[in-house]
Amino acid sequence: MSLEALANKYGTPLYVYSADQILDRLGMFHEALEGRDHLVCYAVKANSSLAILKLLAEHGAGFDIVSGGELDRVLAAAPEAAGRVVFSGVGKTADEIDHALNVGILEFNVESEAELDLLSARAAKLKRKTRFALRVNPDVFAETHPYISTGLREHKFGIDIKRAAELYKRVKGNKWLEAHGISVHIGSQIRSADPFGAALGRVHKLVRQLRREGIELRSIDAGGGLGIDYHGGNSDPAARVRDYAVAINAALDGFEGRLLLEPGRFLVAQAGALVTRVLNVKQNGRKTFVITDAAMNDLIRPALYQAHHEIVPVMPRAGRARAVDIVGPVCESGDFFARDRKLAPVETGDLLALLDAGAYGMSQASNYNTRLRPAEVLVEGKRARLIKRRETIADLLATEIP
Ligand SMILES: *Cc1c(COP(=O)(O)O)cnc(C)c1O
Repeated sequence: MSLEALANKYGTPLYVYSADQILDRLGMFHEALEGRDHLVCYAVKANSSLAILKLLAEHGAGFDIVSGGELDRVLAAAPEAAGRVVFSGVGKTADEIDHALNVGILEFNVESEAELDLLSARAAKLKRKTRFALRVNPDVFAETHPYISTGLREHKFGIDIKRAAELYKRVKGNKWLEAHGISVHIGSQIRSADPFGAALGRVHKLVRQLRREGIELRSIDAGGGLGIDYHGGNSDPAARVRDYAVAINAALDGFEGRLLLEPGRFLVAQAGALVTRVLNVKQNGRKTFVITDAAMNDLIRPALYQAHHEIVPVMPRAGRARAVDIVGPVCESGDFFARDRKLAPVETGDLLALLDAGAYGMSQASNYNTRLRPAEVLVEGKRARLIKRRETIADLLATEIP
């Protein structure tokens, strides 16, 4: 599929995704976990495009959501998948809980004692028995960026694993609450299988302790967080999933219930590129700036997490690569995609592709500087189709009252 043809047809900046790669990645989990009862609940926040949700739902995936809005997205894309939704997040409102109770999701991942009380009250009010899991905080350190590490006691997420047993026991007789499972999510972009094994080892120990005390949990949710290689190394993604599965299986040896997984990034990141056009090349003293029509509002990862994305010319020109800063037009010095990056020669009008932009790209895009968010295209086999049109200024102003 020619990115140049897509950019000419749909304009830039443009997100382009490969459906085939997303399905390949989903298949890797199924292959690595063969023989274990499992459900992959795709983390919607990584890329919440309806077409991608629909694609994954059609191939049996469930969903991990963190807001009522994400539930509405799942219902819009694949209403039949409502029973495969797990609802995570530290601050669910009563309205969001009611909505999820009414559609009958698989499980609430409860993150505090207060939330468990709220869930119980809402379930009683609506007369709907509900399944819950406690999201425990296993106090495991995952080597990743501090903004996306979540498994230490100092983080806002989850319930201290030492207090979880007491909470399960407290609601044991509650006729509206069914203790269905236990969940854990220690962070994102984790590159080693060890922290996952460590966290699940602690979770499984608690599950065995609860069983001895008469509380039988039917599912263990291992969360998401499996990382990818943003530096374009020739890492083998299938091997990474196998290592991950080996660590999980070792920790859960003897557990007969169902395993839930919540991968986000791993399924979609490398299936997507952000295609952008060079607006101009500017020389400031000894520094060269390549200014693109995409900016931090379209892809905030470099500014927010000091993240690295490989950037390549779509149609390379001959000549020596030199160090440049690749920046957007937004009025912030933080609006850069790369600094002192070796790039082959580019000229005004050339196309660049920011690679591995399928996760936390469009889903974190904003309208800062009153910029219209990009269009999105999904490539399926030899066909490409628009899955989100570019915003118009009318879309943007529609909600405002001058
Ligand atoms: C963000 C998140 C995920 C997905 O994380 P990835 O690193 O994208 O796999 C899964 N579960 C929960 C609870 C999350 O908050």
